[in-house]
Amino acid sequence: MDVVLEFSDHYILDHIWAKLVPLQQSTESPAWLTRFAESLPTFFQPPPPTVFREELVSAWPRSYIIRQMFSVTWITLLGTVILYFLFGCLSYYFVFDHRMMKHPRFLKNQIKMEIWTSLWSFPGMTMLMMPWFEGEVRGHSRLYHNMDEYGWTYFILSPLLFLLFTDYCIYWIHRWLHLPFLYKHVHKPHHKWIIPTPFASHAFHPLDGYAQSLPYHLFVFLFPIQRHLYLALFGMVNLWSVFIHDSDMVISSNSQVEKFINTPAHHTLHHLYFTCNYGQYFTWADHAGGSYRPPEPALHPLLEVVSAEQAGPHQANGDTAAPRKVVWQSKDE
Ligand SMILES: [Zn+2]
Ligand SMILES: [Zn+2]
Repeated sequence: MDVVLEFSDHYILDHIWAKLVPLQQSTESPAWLTRFAESLPTFFQPPPPTVFREELVSAWPRSYIIRQMFSVTWITLLGTVILYFLFGCLSYYFVFDHRMMKHPRFLKNQIKMEIWTSLWSFPGMTMLMMPWFEGEVRGHSRLYHNMDEYGWTYFILSPLLFLLFTDYCIYWIHRWLHLPFLYKHVHKPHHKWIIPTPFASHAFHPLDGYAQSLPYHLFVFLFPIQRHLYLALFGMVNLWSVFIHDSDMVISSNSQVEKFINTPAHHTLHHLYFTCNYGQYFTWADHAGGSYRPPEPALHPLLEVVSAEQAGPHQANGDTAAPRKVVWQSKDE
């Protein structure tokens, strides 16, 4: 977050803050932010401003904690919305098999509901994440800038450490979210989507999204990681969340990769059967925890679509109890 804030301050936010809270408070400029700052305890009062660019002087300098908290909140919210729609649309148009929307368990107006649930969840999630990002910005994390500090070997290996640490933590957080009380009050909205689309990737209760993001925040306070690398990994995490929600079995069942990597096929099975494949990137935690379910062609939800179409309109409308006759046809045929 410190990299993004620095960039945003330089190109956008210095201008905005100079307008919102100018150093010389004019009678026309909005004074509610100044009054708000004055009403805060001494610790939160703005420090004396440092004039670094004459034309962009705000009474709230970059180092002022309240300014940072506002900036970080807006950057996170905007960034989340942009990445969600960017990755969601790319996956929806280029990866997601649209025949899946004819599945008997696919809800009416589901994509609209997924998007609304996500948009409803983002502000709450952002507020909860803000203290972590603020901690990074104020230099309390172990993010580092200089490559000499830990060397190239650590730099190259740290993404693996990042993935293994966050994957294992998310496995247990996700598994606990399936405990009856937490499931009912927190995780259930994400399982409304039996046949998820890429837009379901962030469609959950704000507490659910926050809980599953905790390992990423915790990581930078426990382990050193180069700050640009961390930013790239954070973007990748969002992309992966979208990718595993495309409801597809993109890799065949005899693939060796599929034994170790938690693919969309695994997460599709999680949405279909609830109590298997809790992992995010790898399958090792599911293997160790006894919750691994291998993707098999016979479990492909597209078979239900074919079956429902063959059985006629009564099944296509959700009557899954009718006899099932499956004729498999792959996406590429
Ligand atoms: Zn999911
Ligand atoms: Zn779940």
